[in-house]
Amino acid sequence: MPATLDEILLREKLVSPDQLRQAVEHQKMHGGRLGNVLVKLGMIGDDQVTSAMSRLYGIPAVDPLELEIDPAVLKLVPLETALKYQVLPISRVGATLKLAMADPTNVLAMDDIKFMTGYNVDPALASEAAISEAIKRHYGNVEEDERKKEIEDLVSFIDEDQAESLELEAEDDGTLNLAALEKAAEEAPVIRLVNYILTDSVRRGASDIHLEPYEKEYRVRYRIDGLLQHIMSPPLKLRDAIVSRVKIMAKLDIAEKRLPQDGRIMMKMMLNGKKKQIDLRVSILPTLHGEKIVMRLLDKENLRLDMTKLGFEAESLAKFTRAIFKPYGMVLVTGPTGSGKTNTLYSSIAQLNRVDTNIMTAEDPVEFQLPGINQVQMKEQIGLNFAAALRSFLRQDPNVILVGEIRDFETAEIAIKAALTGHLVLSTLHTNDAPSTISRLMNMGIEPFLVATSVHLIAAQRLVRRLCADCKVVDDKNPQVLIDAGFTPAEAKTVKVYKPKGCAACNDRGYKGRVGLYEVMEITDDIRELILVGASTIELKRKAVEQGMITLRRSGLIKAMNGVTSLEEVIRETVL
Ligand SMILES: [Zn+2]
Repeated sequence: MPATLDEILLREKLVSPDQLRQAVEHQKMHGGRLGNVLVKLGMIGDDQVTSAMSRLYGIPAVDPLELEIDPAVLKLVPLETALKYQVLPISRVGATLKLAMADPTNVLAMDDIKFMTGYNVDPALASEAAISEAIKRHYGNVEEDERKKEIEDLVSFIDEDQAESLELEAEDDGTLNLAALEKAAEEAPVIRLVNYILTDSVRRGASDIHLEPYEKEYRVRYRIDGLLQHIMSPPLKLRDAIVSRVKIMAKLDIAEKRLPQDGRIMMKMMLNGKKKQIDLRVSILPTLHGEKIVMRLLDKENLRLDMTKLGFEAESLAKFTRAIFKPYGMVLVTGPTGSGKTNTLYSSIAQLNRVDTNIMTAEDPVEFQLPGINQVQMKEQIGLNFAAALRSFLRQDPNVILVGEIRDFETAEIAIKAALTGHLVLSTLHTNDAPSTISRLMNMGIEPFLVATSVHLIAAQRLVRRLCADCKVVDDKNPQVLIDAGFTPAEAKTVKVYKPKGCAACNDRGYKGRVGLYEVMEITDDIRELILVGASTIELKRKAVEQGMITLRRSGLIKAMNGVTSLEEVIRETVL
């Protein structure tokens, strides 16, 4: 009878001794439980670890995302406790509470919950990822209802009692009275409303907030998962007070109302019992009916630094991880604007960020500030461009260099030189797929042998919307449609795909969040030889696929058959 997880994994040949050694090394440096480390390194699937642990401890495994949970059961364990111990109450029978746990050896958690609820605790095993997602989903619904009520209370409160006193009187010459403006911005209801909008948008995972005055209406919209949504219409009378309040927070000139202004707000808030820092980039633009405010939320936690959550297939992630942990060479991430390239690069850097590693980035703009990383903002006006920054970096003894984008010969040349002289270089390019990146570099004027020796890996990516797990429905497609989309005839007979429906959890959109599709091309010896003899993009792609490259389309089809996204999303974002 094996006594530990590593023994069971080895005995069942789920990992090799070599992989296990690597994982233990990684664990020594970065911490974490062994199972999670193996998953993170892409060596084994989440479900395989869970099922191995289930056999090890003799505890049944459950998928909390598949379960219907009675809200009364959820109420037994508060959100903070669920988060603290990574547990989820799933059912109650008699005096026993069934609890999904990522770590069933955590006796402390079980005792605490037993004491708190008065129920005996019966553990079931689930992966940490599944529990986190399930906590978000189940407790999220409860929160959503409370939030809607809160927003109604707030707006009606302002409407009835306070709006009158906030109307601003213009001076005789048509300018506004500054003192009145300041006073209005300091009125409690406006402060409360603006604070509410800021925190609410964070809780909902918005990327942008739009505060827009029209002739007869004031409109608040958030951009969530790439789409704008109407949130509320506060009284139009509050328009000037809201603008003033935001200007004060962003340290802008409240008297200037005719010119556009840009600023920044940094704020701290409590969310799910955790302190969170939010950066907002504020842009104010005078429009016909008053100043429109757009705030972009730079929320570090929206940035997913956990590479296993980005959407890589396990084998693609293993290749990618291998490449970024090499001490030198170039790793390129390609795709159009808004395809999530920055997120992938930041995640890579977060993995490499250790005290013994000097990481330098040249970015335009610096979107997120990461502790321990030397980030440099490009300033084209004074000649600080990517090429100039790279040249200085090489005199700063770096291990890892991130260049925002390679778009000209000069940048490409220095980046390649850096990659060939013992540095890991990460960058992005605007190309449609991984193989065509090679010819793009050559078209910039880089010699084939330099491309072949410096580039180690190219990952092309796209973002597609995730189907809402609460309401997605089976999409009965004609097998021919599936074959036309790229499934094999054999797959087309058995594959099930899903389509959006719409429910309260997703605001009737049928989609919730986004996920990346990845095409990861390793520059193997064979590919390198092809590059050296000037092979075409098509030949490169053929060889890469032959060697196991999952194309963007295939990455999408895999997600469609796992019900992560719809076939329509895949067809829209990728080509066959
Ligand atoms: Zn839904």
